[in-house]
Amino acid sequence: MSDSMEDKTGSFDATQLNLQRCPDCGGKGELYIDSENINEKFEVEKQTVITPCTRCNGTGFVPPG
Ligand SMILES: [Zn+2]
Repeated sequence: MSDSMEDKTGSFDATQLNLQRCPDCGGKGELYIDSENINEKFEVEKQTVITPCTRCNGTGFVPPG
C-alpha cells in the first residue's frame, strides 16, 4: 500500500480566473461611440459607431497587470 496518492484533479482552468473584465468596454469587447453628423440639410444626425475595443482586442477581458 505504498501507492502515491497525488491528486491531480485540481487542474481547473486558472487562466479564466485571472482575466478581468475590460474596464473600457465593460466586457463587451466593443465600444459604442456616439457621434453626430451634419447632413446636407444641416440637420444633426446622431449615430452610434460600434468599434472593437482596442484595449482588450475585442475579447472583453484583459489579463491582470
Ligand atoms: Zn475592452
